[in-house]
Amino acid sequence: MDLVVHDIDFLWTGETLLEKSSISVEDGEIVAIAGGDTTPAAREPVIEAARIVDGRGKALLPGFKNGHTHAAMTLLRGYGDDMALQEWLQTRIWPVEAALTPEDIYWGTRLAALEMIRTGTTFANDMYFYPRDAVRAFEDAGIKAAVGLALFDFFDEERRAQETSRMEEILRDVGASHGRGAPVSLTVAPHSIYTCGPELLRWSVAAADEAGLVLHTHLAETRTEVENARRDLGMSPFSYAHSVGLLSENAIAAHAVWLEPEEIAMAASSGVTVVYNPASNMKLASGAFPFRAFADRGVPMMLAPDGVASNNNLDMFDEMKLASLLQKHHNADPELMTARETLDVAIGAAMRRGDRSHRTDLFPAVGSAIVPGAPADFVLLDLSHPQMVPVHNLISNVVYAAGGGVVDTVVCGGRVLMEDGEVPGSEEVITEARRCASALVQRVATH
Ligand SMILES: [Zn+2]
Repeated sequence: MDLVVHDIDFLWTGETLLEKSSISVEDGEIVAIAGGDTTPAAREPVIEAARIVDGRGKALLPGFKNGHTHAAMTLLRGYGDDMALQEWLQTRIWPVEAALTPEDIYWGTRLAALEMIRTGTTFANDMYFYPRDAVRAFEDAGIKAAVGLALFDFFDEERRAQETSRMEEILRDVGASHGRGAPVSLTVAPHSIYTCGPELLRWSVAAADEAGLVLHTHLAETRTEVENARRDLGMSPFSYAHSVGLLSENAIAAHAVWLEPEEIAMAASSGVTVVYNPASNMKLASGAFPFRAFADRGVPMMLAPDGVASNNNLDMFDEMKLASLLQKHHNADPELMTARETLDVAIGAAMRRGDRSHRTDLFPAVGSAIVPGAPADFVLLDLSHPQMVPVHNLISNVVYAAGGGVVDTVVCGGRVLMEDGEVPGSEEVITEARRCASALVQRVATH
């Protein structure tokens, strides 16, 4: 056995809460759960294992899945706040992004992965620049990820040719070893309908289909996007995306805030996965995700922090609390988006379809439940942390009370990435990320 976690006080399988159980892991998968309510057939005594983790005083649950992020934006943490979206992009973000190097992407992504590990995230769906370096960073950090090069052509034909040939090269070089079932996979990521012309959007759909990869885009984020789409394209963003073939079972649409009622049905029938980004939506005053309408139609959902520059952290505990509170506040309904519904979205259970399999359809390497056969992607929380005391209701504590500081141990693909709050190699990541961030803003200032 590669790993055994024994005597876990509480274990949330994704469906059931078990007490005093143990879990065994081999070849990156959960092979047995003993104790609790499991049937005798599934019981297995604690045996010799290469690594043994003490679960006493801990709660175990599936790791969080970050459904939409721009990982290396960690280097821009606090670099521009309290501004309107366009001014913020034009005066702060775009000038710095133009100066980013592959080394910045590597260390920025390592910093993001370190923050994600420390706050219990075991998978991230990333869209940014220099994907080769981002892939390497996630692999070195040990968490699972999907990585896309953000494609933009600003409706310019020459720019489109550059983007598609760059992406074709990446698919050739990296695609074969990073297909959809790999722990770190590629995606095809046209940035949005307002930065990509219809030809680039259609090219992206075809490229994703051909390579069997997930398509990842931003969609219907702000009211301005809706107004501009109606003016320039003659329809709302979601309908336009549908008309060019962007919405499918292989697609992830981040934000999905502004939809007409008939577009909710369109989302449901297309099979697209939508991603709720509550902190980013609130910080940029974008609006409130229509959670209830999506949930009632069974639309697959994920939760996410978006990029650090519009958040400003990657802590999914913050996202869970904000997700639920924003729904309650916006709709004047305290019963909306319960703690259980919120946790389901955060751990990836709400993106599963049909048969309730424990692997996510979009990313088969990613586990979303604690059951035998599932990928071993889980976290242990410290029940002695004041935010976790007392345990009247574990899920309530996780969603409403806790922050990332309660995470004690993180296992991803069967590998222990953090134990007792320690992530080996953190110091180098912090030092290099600091160096890259200050050199980056220096370059921009003297340009
Ligand atoms: Zn984004």
